[in-house]
Amino acid sequence: MTHSMARDLAFAQDSLEKASRGERLNTAEIVSLYHLPLTDVATVAHALRLERCEANTVTFLIDRNINYTNICNVGCNFCAFYRTERQKDAYTLDYQQISHKIRELEAVGGTRILMQGGVNPKLPLEYYTELLRHIKNHHPSIRIEAFSPEEILGFEKFFDKSADEILDLLIEAGLDGLPGAGGEILEDDVREKAAPARIRTFDWFRILDLAQRKGLYTIATMVIGFGESLEQRAHHFELIREQQDKALERGERGFAGFAMWTLQTENTRLAGKAPGATAYEYLQNLAISRIALDNIRNIQASWPAQGFKVAQAALFYGANDLGSTMLEENVVSAAGKHDRHRATVRELVRLIDDAGYTPAQRNSWFEVIRYPNVAEALAVVAGTA
Ligand code: SF4
Repeated sequence: MTHSMARDLAFAQDSLEKASRGERLNTAEIVSLYHLPLTDVATVAHALRLERCEANTVTFLIDRNINYTNICNVGCNFCAFYRTERQKDAYTLDYQQISHKIRELEAVGGTRILMQGGVNPKLPLEYYTELLRHIKNHHPSIRIEAFSPEEILGFEKFFDKSADEILDLLIEAGLDGLPGAGGEILEDDVREKAAPARIRTFDWFRILDLAQRKGLYTIATMVIGFGESLEQRAHHFELIREQQDKALERGERGFAGFAMWTLQTENTRLAGKAPGATAYEYLQNLAISRIALDNIRNIQASWPAQGFKVAQAALFYGANDLGSTMLEENVVSAAGKHDRHRATVRELVRLIDDAGYTPAQRNSWFEVIRYPNVAEALAVVAGTA
């Protein structure tokens, strides 16, 4: 080993030691963790997870993604979901179709919908406000977490109103949360290459900051595999951590959690052009997220991108949550190579129980609302709720 390699290794080991004492790491220290053996990093990440969250419990949410329209004028190169207006399979759901999907969710004890679409220039503002009112009137127990920062940015242009005004109108109509979709890598040169018209870092934070100030539920996200550098990944963590500091200092709840997955490029213009990320890189980045994001309590494992088994392993790499059932998922699956796009409660309970944890159904804010009876849940016929 050369002198400089020995020095780098010592720096990385010191950084990990510092993290294990609960101290905050800077960019260089976060980057150094990527050069350590994954088992060492995972040991610290798992210990932090056990300290920061209920040690024996792994949570999950019963929810449904509803993609109200696939028409989109942003045209991200990594997206296999969107259509232009003229394509035969372009669609926009009406309120009855959306209600039908929510009734299916209610029938299995679901508590929230994650409702996002393409950025559709043909829909009027009233489509959204009346849709929210319709859902609140007909499905009062369901939380509505809807519209990514990209959609809000589109609404600003289409309706000639500020995000501030738009969020007030949406909240008044029934909006409960604004998912932080579109985080990907929060570095504009990565974003520019992957999707030239994609929302930029400044606007992503501007809109989520407003949402947090208004008390909306938000979550931070990340997607790896665009060919980003380790420094860019570390910087992404730092930006999210800064935003969380700001929100918490203001007395707000900030990001309820952090969700990270790997780029899926099948059926997209990035197929063969972006490296994607392996299961190893996924677990490594997840473990580092637990260490770097010292002010975000809940870290989700992602099964739609990596499959059930890797998501189960993630419960020992810093994750304390197994995401949600997703009775329906259309966006990651359109570009994904895994054929599982939904999970039953039985499957999530089994994955958690087999890993040695107690499964707990949670709400959007990661608060436990029910401990399912494991024997009863596993006795349910496979393929049902
Ligand atoms: S990722 Fe979202 S914004 Fe980008 S093209 Fe797909 S639907 Fe549109």
